[in-house]
Amino acid sequence: MRLLLVEDDSSTRRMLEGLFVGQGYEVTACPNGEAALVRHAEDPFPFIALDLSLPGMSGLEVCRLIRARRDGDRAYILVITSSTAPERLQETLAAGANDYLVKPVSLDLLHVRLAVANRHIHEVERRFTLEEQNTATRSEISDIIRSIPDMLLVLDRSGRILRTNQRVTEILGYEQDELVGGSANRIFGPAFAECFASESPKWESPFHNLDIVLTARDGRQISVLVSGAPLRASTEGSGGGIVCIAKDMSERNRAEERIRTLAFYDGLTGLPNRHLMQERVRAAMASARKHGRSLALLFLDLDQFKHVNDTLGHQVGDRLLRDVSSRLIESVRLTDTVGRNGATAQSGTVSRFGGDEFTILLTDIDDANGASLVANRILSALAEPFEVDGRELYSGASIGIAMFPGDGNDAESLLQSADTAMYDAKSQGRSGFRFFTQPMNEAASKRLSIENRLRRALERDEFALHFQPLQASRTGALTGAEVLLRWHPTGGKPISPADFIPVAEETGLIVAIGEWVLREACRQAARWNRSGHPPIRISVNLSTRQLRDEALCETVFDCLREGDLDPSQLELEITETAVMQEYEASISALRRLAEAGIGLCLDDFGTGYSSLAYIRRFPIERIKIDQSFVSTITECRDDAIFSAAIIAMAHTLGLDVVGEGVETTEQAELLTAQGCDELQGFLFSRPCPAAGFERLLTGSGDPKPDEEGSD
Ligand code: C2E
Ligand code: CA
Ligand code: CA
Repeated sequence: MRLLLVEDDSSTRRMLEGLFVGQGYEVTACPNGEAALVRHAEDPFPFIALDLSLPGMSGLEVCRLIRARRDGDRAYILVITSSTAPERLQETLAAGANDYLVKPVSLDLLHVRLAVANRHIHEVERRFTLEEQNTATRSEISDIIRSIPDMLLVLDRSGRILRTNQRVTEILGYEQDELVGGSANRIFGPAFAECFASESPKWESPFHNLDIVLTARDGRQISVLVSGAPLRASTEGSGGGIVCIAKDMSERNRAEERIRTLAFYDGLTGLPNRHLMQERVRAAMASARKHGRSLALLFLDLDQFKHVNDTLGHQVGDRLLRDVSSRLIESVRLTDTVGRNGATAQSGTVSRFGGDEFTILLTDIDDANGASLVANRILSALAEPFEVDGRELYSGASIGIAMFPGDGNDAESLLQSADTAMYDAKSQGRSGFRFFTQPMNEAASKRLSIENRLRRALERDEFALHFQPLQASRTGALTGAEVLLRWHPTGGKPISPADFIPVAEETGLIVAIGEWVLREACRQAARWNRSGHPPIRISVNLSTRQLRDEALCETVFDCLREGDLDPSQLELEITETAVMQEYEASISALRRLAEAGIGLCLDDFGTGYSSLAYIRRFPIERIKIDQSFVSTITECRDDAIFSAAIIAMAHTLGLDVVGEGVETTEQAELLTAQGCDELQGFLFSRPCPAAGFERLLTGSGDPKPDEEGSD
């Protein structure tokens, strides 16, 4: 039998799950009432074991909501509580629980209770089955009447109540014998005369869904929908009568609305959630297919939302999400004017996919143009500042667009395509949109394959370090080595760091990988020191993500200690973009490292937008002119002027300059003439394994670099 277990405490949950599974139940476990209601709404459970104290919605509330369902009576609810207070238990039973079990649960007691429960459930199931089959015999009719979830009233021709079911008592508060034999006027009020006047056709033929207000014993007005059918004279008493079923709309409506809301709408923004969105996409695709129309699915992800959340707190984050969702709704409402027929119908549906991700379904568009119009409108709506708690916040977004037909045959693949396109938009810089293309798909699956293998690379020991020498421009003396990571997945081809480092950054794997690089690099330097080579500078690349890592400084110090290295032997290379992006987060860590004597070098200089004046705020001592300038320095006058200017300015600021990616003697000569301090590049050596680099250290010739072309 299927059993829904609702318990927030994970160890109790596991324990109970074990007990129930041991008893042969097929258990679905939920940590809170909201989740439980959703599961129950999807596929109702005959048996629910419910903890009373839950986070959010209480167990009692869950119990009431389950009972308020159309099939509310069908589930057997066993409440598990740690309270033995009689009022509490009373309250529990009043909320509709069938039975309760006091924690800690004793196995013996559980056996007994389960036996009772099973009997009850079988009984209820039997009743419901009978009802469904509609093959009830007369004696079973009263069973059925009792189990009908709606109020049931049988009236005779004179308007007397002949029979009621338990629901009448529950909802209206009258005991059965207070009503039976009395006039239906008492609960129907004046409506009775209107509806059931003796000439009324209702005595002759069935009627459906009459809107009527009933009066409960305590005077409450309860709106119901009444359906009924005449009873032939022979069945109920001599004069025949009418059988009415009254659905309680007030409570039901609220409860169902509540359940629907929980299951299909996002609590924060009130937008449809991912489930409802998928449903709608499915329906829209079916309709588009049928009518030969197009639709577009936009996948939107806020830029920098995480930053807002982290720095300003969740409340501000939540406010921002709500404001964003209002602007999105505004932007698609305007879609009407680009709609096929300029109709007033709203043709865009905004949903919250989760976190800071939204989707927008555009159903009434002719082609991609319509979609890009909307995307543009959304981007400009989001470009305006948001005011949250007196603060101006900016939240750009990246949007991916998938079209149907074309970019997916079902809701899942269409969504996947939109997501992939969003991903691409994000990588092209922030605040923009992209349409899905096939090559993106290939890039995405390549990336996914990298990600999967990367997760296991450390434990499988698939990484290695290579070292590329740096030399003094004037003397040609070896001054240091840049440490470059190499990855050779087991059973596959080597993968370039240019391909896997970005993936490692996005997934956060870079923190562990970067630590491994630091540790290995320091170990290697220590080995060389021990073999008696003069200590050389080891430059390790740090990624943006590592700068945010609070443990960074400790990790670095620890690696130095382990190798007994002087801090001045280690240099960290950080890119211009990284320090710009992570200024706040990284500045104190960088200062701490610099104060400890560790060198800092600004990598890829010239590719970002920072000025040297800005750079001065960082405790760096060296810059590396990016290879893209070096490679054209002898051909392009502007690049030559750029490098000359950089070198001169860096020197006035007391910084050393490295030219990287030097491939020709002409480049080396020009950089040297301009005063560049050090050079690095294939001209001198490709990156090579530690053993090869050691030959450079001893001056014993060819370092045996990476195979030709791999660098
Ligand atoms: P980068 O820091 O700019 O490293 C220099 C890159 O230029 C290396 O590529 C190197 O092999 C290559 N190179 C050196 N001399 C020449 C030359 O004369 N011509 C040309 N065309 N290229 C040259 P590699 O090893 O493929 O690394 C690519 C990037 O991957 C690095 O760029 C760096 O950003 C990243 N990376 C590599 N190892 C690590 C690491 O351990 N940690 C982090 N965070 N990033 C790493
Ligand atoms: Ca570098
Ligand atoms: Ca570089």
